Amino acid sequence: MYKAFLIKYAEIAIKGKNRYLFEDALVHNISEHLKKVEGTFHVRKENGRIYVETEGDYDYDETVAALQKVFGIVGICPVVLVEDEGFERLAEEVVSYVDAAYPDKHFTFKVDARRARKNYPMTSMEINAAVGEKILEAFPETKVDVHHPQVMIHIEIRPMINIYSTEIPGPGGMPLGTAGKGMLLLSGGIDSPVAGYMIAKRGVTIEATYFHAPPYTSERAKQKVIDLAKKVAEYAGTIKLHVVNFTDVQLHIYEKCPHEDLTIIMRRYMMKIAEHFANEGKCLGLITGESIGQVASQTMQSLAVTNEVCHMPVYRPLIAMDKQDIVAIAEKIDTYETSILPYEDCCTIFVAKHPVTKPNLKHIVKSEQKLGEEMEALVQTAIETTETILVEAE
Ligand code: ATP
Ligand code: MG
Repeated sequence: MYKAFLIKYAEIAIKGKNRYLFEDALVHNISEHLKKVEGTFHVRKENGRIYVETEGDYDYDETVAALQKVFGIVGICPVVLVEDEGFERLAEEVVSYVDAAYPDKHFTFKVDARRARKNYPMTSMEINAAVGEKILEAFPETKVDVHHPQVMIHIEIRPMINIYSTEIPGPGGMPLGTAGKGMLLLSGGIDSPVAGYMIAKRGVTIEATYFHAPPYTSERAKQKVIDLAKKVAEYAGTIKLHVVNFTDVQLHIYEKCPHEDLTIIMRRYMMKIAEHFANEGKCLGLITGESIGQVASQTMQSLAVTNEVCHMPVYRPLIAMDKQDIVAIAEKIDTYETSILPYEDCCTIFVAKHPVTKPNLKHIVKSEQKLGEEMEALVQTAIETTETILVEAE
């Protein structure tokens, strides 16, 4: 029954002069997401509103599902748009809307009229009362409840009259592409895909770097990361994924450095290499899935020592989150099932039995000196042999 959707957005409405940039990005992103849905859609801006209008047949559920992945959208309201042809006509339209939208008429309601156009000949209060009466007349089973109505019937007098009573929640956040770019260190775990999703939700476009260690890590482990990137791409758009062959770097660290320092040194090299690709891609920061205290390499001391090699800001959106809350987001964005597949990770293979939990920077730097000049060449080769894959949403 719906031919249009009214798109509500919140945060971007407060952006002053930049507002149109945010709105244009949102309009663009909505159009992009709807390309995957069968049907013809027109997305347009109108006085601080965005409308998605449909032409011919379309799949309602798929359309809503696609819109629920567009950051910046707070609410999706299936709406009936009617020309202003006088009050009697309007009342008829509302009555037939209610009839079609609610087959069972045993509900309480309230009419909430608003005039964005003050030249309408009735006040909002008058519209509320008069339309309410028409509904009660048409459907005697309904009741008015002005305090806790089950159905809130919105009537907005704009260039067209908007009639709607449902608001489906959107993902919130800011439109993608309005906040620069970041480089996500994406592993096959639970945390980093969630971290990428959260940063993208703030409007940041993302690229990703994955470190694998063939033959110690398998093709399947790499495919798992690609699959995770695909899931994140449903929200964050196409992701450029850099797959770094980390084996020789890791073996060299394993051979030369004290084993309790392996993890932290390896993490420092991951950051350095990710930063190389971040610079190349004009990213403004690195993004990781670290969270204080989760494992030995994520104590504040370890994070400080890892951070020390980075020149750009490192964003850690999960830093203060509990695992169960991270898992809840992973489930929501459908990465969880993939993340828990039991494929080996490059970090787990060379891990020491008793990694340091409170590394000392001077000590770690000294351990690293054992790597010698050879290390630079190994890092260089890792960079040069990196495979870049464009990962699109399915
Ligand atoms: P995750 O669930 O994201 O793998 P984790 O709890 O397993 O995180 P670590 O293995 O200590 O934690 O990794 C911390 C962060 O370092 C990850 O969230 C990710 O951003 C990055 N990272 C770890 N391993 C890799 C890898 N193989 N490739 C790319 N980034 C990685
Ligand atoms: Mg991990």
